[in-house]
Amino acid sequence: MERLQKVIAHAGIASRRKSEELIASGRVQVNGETVVELGTKVSVHDIIVVDGVPLSNEAPVYILMYKPKNVISTVSDDKSRDTVVDLLDEEIKERVYPVGRLDYDTTGALLLTNDGELANRLTHPKYEVEKTYVAKVSGIPTNDELKQIRMGVKVDNDFTASPAKVKVLSVDKPKQRAIVSLTIHEGKNHQVKKMLQAINHPVEKLKRETYAFLQLEGLQPGEWRRLKPEEVKRLK
Ligand code: URA
Repeated sequence: MERLQKVIAHAGIASRRKSEELIASGRVQVNGETVVELGTKVSVHDIIVVDGVPLSNEAPVYILMYKPKNVISTVSDDKSRDTVVDLLDEEIKERVYPVGRLDYDTTGALLLTNDGELANRLTHPKYEVEKTYVAKVSGIPTNDELKQIRMGVKVDNDFTASPAKVKVLSVDKPKQRAIVSLTIHEGKNHQVKKMLQAINHPVEKLKRETYAFLQLEGLQPGEWRRLKPEEVKRLK
């Protein structure tokens, strides 16, 4: 038996607090009865309905994918492009979705789950999941430019990135390119590209090497694996 608000949050409908509000405002029914009591315990056999829509009682699934380029990290695409969910095979019957986004042309570590509560938490800036990217940039960043990223670079009028870790991994002087590693805990749209653009080193290629403690070891682009129970525990 689990608390009703936890079950609703797990189903990805809302955060834990929002789920409590849903219950308190009379929008949740259990086995046909409206329930406003927050402590209510439910089992997998109970039929839970939120705003008239039954909750699915799927088991939670956690997947680490090595996203290849040229797939979109959403569940469906209006331009009929391949999505990361299309890369999962028949074995995954649950309706998983990506936690955060990687750009169409970005490769690397992407988490997919149907655990809405965990997804909400991991994408909340307060939770500060570290993500490390490796970028091929044009030009060779100077120490002063790297310092701007370490201090918190202004990306545009609305957003200044938090101080981030950055280092140059290698330089190609003849071609005037560098490989840079950048670690951030935020997740604004195109953030890494914008941060490097802000110091005048546009990104030519981008890969997310790690998501929290999860690495891509053993996976090729397009491959995925289920997380081990101890990895799920560590993420929570
Ligand atoms: N930052 C970007 O610019 N793109 C990504 O895909 C991820 C982070």
